[in-house]
Amino acid sequence: MNRYQMILPGDNVLIGVSGGKDSYVLLRILAEVHSTSKIVGLMIEEGIHEYNRADVFAFLKKVCNEIGVDCLITSIKKELGYSVDDFISLQIEKYGTLKISACTYCGIARRRILNAYARMLGADKVATGHNLDDEVQTYLINILRGDIMRLVQLHPLSMTHSKLLVKRVKPLRTIYEYETSFLAYIENFRFQETECPYILERPTLRSRIREMIKELERSYPDIQIRFLRYIDNILEPFVKSSNENFVNLPLCSQCGEPTAPGRSICKFCELVNSIVLNK
Ligand code: SF4
Ligand code: ZN
Repeated sequence: MNRYQMILPGDNVLIGVSGGKDSYVLLRILAEVHSTSKIVGLMIEEGIHEYNRADVFAFLKKVCNEIGVDCLITSIKKELGYSVDDFISLQIEKYGTLKISACTYCGIARRRILNAYARMLGADKVATGHNLDDEVQTYLINILRGDIMRLVQLHPLSMTHSKLLVKRVKPLRTIYEYETSFLAYIENFRFQETECPYILERPTLRSRIREMIKELERSYPDIQIRFLRYIDNILEPFVKSSNENFVNLPLCSQCGEPTAPGRSICKFCELVNSIVLNK
């Protein structure tokens, strides 16, 4: 068995289906190698102007029906009260400018909803379509931030430190983005025609790293997979030690969800408080 095997034969798996090519590829491949009765897809509408998800979700729903996988749909607004657009407009109303990027809110909100659904459905794993390029960027961001805890959490062998958190896995993390694009293309995946308007709003650290790595990969082919394996190996002893010293994460005093050690309220509540409190 591969020591990084992420999904075991009996696992119930919730797949976060974003509408992008990577989660589509994950859905198709997992449906071929895993019992389809043990897979559920969850599509989460972000609530972003000019970013039409209805067509994409209708296409994905059709794909799920064809391969025999149950598929659910919800929205950030329905689950958490504020869509991504709401979060941005409230922020601009309060500060006159954008202090926190749409992607920060969107990412945290999506992770929270996926975890809540996985818990509700009794899933053993939450699988997402992050590919090698995404994973290398995330490793680099956290190395640059010096966030060792996040680095350990990203490792495939890491355990969750709360019974309320369902283990997240990224089965495509060693697959290059061009490979998932190619597979999606030959499978006639319906690529989204409009891009999320927030992607260009603020050059994030991730977008800068993405450009830098693309450039390096052109000169040094395979640099990303070698980097991923190198960091995985370096982190492994820390991950094993962290798994052996189980620390039950504290719960947020506001929403009751697990939060990082030393915090009394979680990042999500902090984001919402920053725009709705003391208006
Ligand atoms: Fe969400 Fe950012 Fe992706 Fe837009 S670009 S869908 S805001 S994560
Ligand atoms: Zn909270």
